[in-house]
Amino acid sequence: MPTLSTTLDHYEVWFLTGSQNLYGEDTLRQVADQSQEIARALGASSDVPVKVVWKPVLKDSESIRRAALDANAADNVIGLIAWMHTFSPAKMWIAGLDALRKPLLHLHTQANVELPWAEIDFDFMNLNQAAHGDREFGYIQTRLGVARKTVVGHVSNPVVSKSIGTWTRAAAGWAASRSMKLARFGDNMRFVAVTEGDKTEAELRFGVQVNSWPVNELAEAVHAASDADIAALVAEYEDLYDVVPELRSGGDRHDSLRYGAAIELGLKSFLEEGGFGAFTTNFEDLGALRQLPGLAVQRLMAQGYGFGAEGDWKTAILVRVANVMGSGLPGGASLMEDYTYDLTPGAELILGAHMLEVSPSLTTSRASLEIHPLGIGGKKDPVRLVFNADPGPAVVVAMSDMRDRFRLVANVVEVVEPTEALPNLPVGRAVWRPEPDFQTAAAAWLTAGAAHHTVMSTAVGIEVFHDFAEIARTELLVIDKATTLRDFTREVRWNQAYYRLAQGL
Ligand code: MN
Repeated sequence: MPTLSTTLDHYEVWFLTGSQNLYGEDTLRQVADQSQEIARALGASSDVPVKVVWKPVLKDSESIRRAALDANAADNVIGLIAWMHTFSPAKMWIAGLDALRKPLLHLHTQANVELPWAEIDFDFMNLNQAAHGDREFGYIQTRLGVARKTVVGHVSNPVVSKSIGTWTRAAAGWAASRSMKLARFGDNMRFVAVTEGDKTEAELRFGVQVNSWPVNELAEAVHAASDADIAALVAEYEDLYDVVPELRSGGDRHDSLRYGAAIELGLKSFLEEGGFGAFTTNFEDLGALRQLPGLAVQRLMAQGYGFGAEGDWKTAILVRVANVMGSGLPGGASLMEDYTYDLTPGAELILGAHMLEVSPSLTTSRASLEIHPLGIGGKKDPVRLVFNADPGPAVVVAMSDMRDRFRLVANVVEVVEPTEALPNLPVGRAVWRPEPDFQTAAAAWLTAGAAHHTVMSTAVGIEVFHDFAEIARTELLVIDKATTLRDFTREVRWNQAYYRLAQGL
């Protein structure tokens, strides 16, 4: 059975260098040497989490088109970086850019940092003319409407390597999205609007296959879990968490913990068997399951799976993508729900949580494993991990279906310690302060029609989601420290027109 991969080691980006045959062998050899040096520097940077593979200098239309087709066909190639070291007449790039289906980054750089003023002759000018060649390349990309990220500066500048690293993370998220299979156990929560959406369009736009399975097929897998596997997993829980006495071996309610372990085992085997990277549940439709999956969902999110509650497949996609984009970084990604507020004037806070399903990847503290009644769903009391999300910078991102397109809305936030202890709130939770301020953030969120479910990422920031949205050609409205409600409202209105027009172009 394939285990879900959330690492980035197997991904690569190709480094393409544009030139032409006009310059002669000597110059082209230098172009090759210097571009290899740049590709090597990027690959060696700790900011860039994937392999950077240098490709031979491109000098004609056919080799450019072939490079694009080869990149399209290679599943481990998540994007292309292109640099015009010399002048590469851009009609040569039309067929290749038109065929390209992978993310593109235009690196506007040059081999040297400083100009050797006293030595510059025309050979130097001919060799080091990206200032000129990259403008020709920018023109053809814009004329063809090619989505790309443009990064400017010398590769020794950390701003450049960080910006490229950010884009490779977004490209990895895109690769994960393009190959994602999502299992829905049950349908949407009855009568809820924002969790609905066009699943057929999602497969075209994001590449995600969204399909449903009867929850009783999951229940069969859960009830097939072996005693030995359950015992081993319970031992792991006792090792990792502060398990309350009633759930421990010999405790009154130990059977409930064993059932929670069976859910995790059954769910994981179901997901692995089907090659799924994300899933949803619905507390209204639990079939033969005796508890609403809580602990199991929390732990699977922390292992890299995407998840949305109440049938919310759109948020499940975002959680999976955020898990991949944040691979190897401190912090994590989780389903989150804006739940309730502290409205103390000037010190407003948002308390986010869910019924059960918040990923423990949001905390570095030792979670408490507890059992409490759940008022809705009509099942037995579910087991769950209880913790506070670590304080620090974070972003919450929601996806809404606007009928003719998907809209992403992101808010840059600061997770803070809860003002006081929360001894009676038996779920994982996060308390945060939104940028630029509570009133603006909440009003902008409501104006955008953004959802109550989000992915919260504490591993990657807004730049990665921005790059992801550009790659996905999907609208992203950002609420951050620069946001004013007046401008934001105009952006929402203008985007209505822009995205409808752009789809017709
Ligand atoms: Mn919910």
